[in-house]
Amino acid sequence: MSRIKREKETIDLMIKIYCNKKHKSKKNELCNECKELLEYAHKRLDFCKFGEEKKFCSKCPIHCYKKDMKIKIKEVMKFSGPRLLFYRPVQVIKHIIEK
Ligand code: SF4
Ligand SMILES: [Zn+2]
Repeated sequence: MSRIKREKETIDLMIKIYCNKKHKSKKNELCNECKELLEYAHKRLDFCKFGEEKKFCSKCPIHCYKKDMKIKIKEVMKFSGPRLLFYRPVQVIKHIIEK
């Protein structure tokens, strides 16, 4: 699977975990704010100038997110990052190895 596609899947899951717990959305559903964030994050990945060579967004020297979205995505990562292990252990382990 391509790196961009894999990152999209991870971000989907992280935002879902966050929205379900923090915004009390139903399983597999997102509130409008999180839907907007997800679409935004996908667009960033689609237009990432590093393409398949990209590193983690959190380590990116450019960080192409606009300010408010950057704050939101950081919050999501902080919350959902540690919880990912319960949902997708294999995916997380791959992430750690790549890091
Ligand atoms: S933050 Fe950096 S790595 Fe992430 S999508 Fe934007 S340019 Fe690409
Ligand atoms: Zn939400």
